[in-house]
Amino acid sequence: MKSLNPRHRHTLSGQVTIALYRITQAIEYLLRDRGKRAQLSPAQIQALLFLKHARSTAHTVSGLAGRLGVTLATTSGVVDALESKQLLRREQMEEDQRVVRLQLTPEGERKAAELEDVLDEVEAAIASLPEDEQAVLKRATQAIVRRLQLAGYVKVYDMCWNCQFFRRDAHPHDPRGPHHCAFIDAPLPEAETYRDCPDFVPAEFEEEVMPGS
Ligand code: SF4
Repeated sequence: MKSLNPRHRHTLSGQVTIALYRITQAIEYLLRDRGKRAQLSPAQIQALLFLKHARSTAHTVSGLAGRLGVTLATTSGVVDALESKQLLRREQMEEDQRVVRLQLTPEGERKAAELEDVLDEVEAAIASLPEDEQAVLKRATQAIVRRLQLAGYVKVYDMCWNCQFFRRDAHPHDPRGPHHCAFIDAPLPEAETYRDCPDFVPAEFEEEVMPGS
């Protein structure tokens, strides 16, 4: 253990830990660099992308705080900054006046779309590996994330297709949606299955389903 100490970095697990640490440094650099050009902080970039892709039920300050992994007070600061740049607005929900929903403005939507490629350099580095190595890497990193998630260090938002609660084509002729979510016990239209969801729980890796497969 103690992989940040070079003297302890002789095990495979220590070397992989340091490699993952360097990847996170690269991701932080890419976010900062893009942020400088877009006049946004890394947290503001992540907030815009979250609001563009997450299920609407998570569009709250606490939903965003979970995604950013920071306190509600810090998240409120991020929201205030984006609101003053007119990239999002706070709206009170009609069904529950106590809940404030965060909504991207048209300019916020445009900005978020522009920023979607911020991790392309990382993806290109992974895509340059042989496919079998990518498959091993995917399984291994998913298992690491799952363990860190269970320990409460990371909150995972993901789309339906690899979720335990997803029932593909459960009612193909239902006008409300052909798929089903067993968590909320409701039909899912196709487009909703591509939203990042806070209630996502991964299915067993070997049973993984991919869109279009
Ligand atoms: S709980 Fe799972 S299946 Fe249900 S909406 Fe969320 S990701 Fe989709």
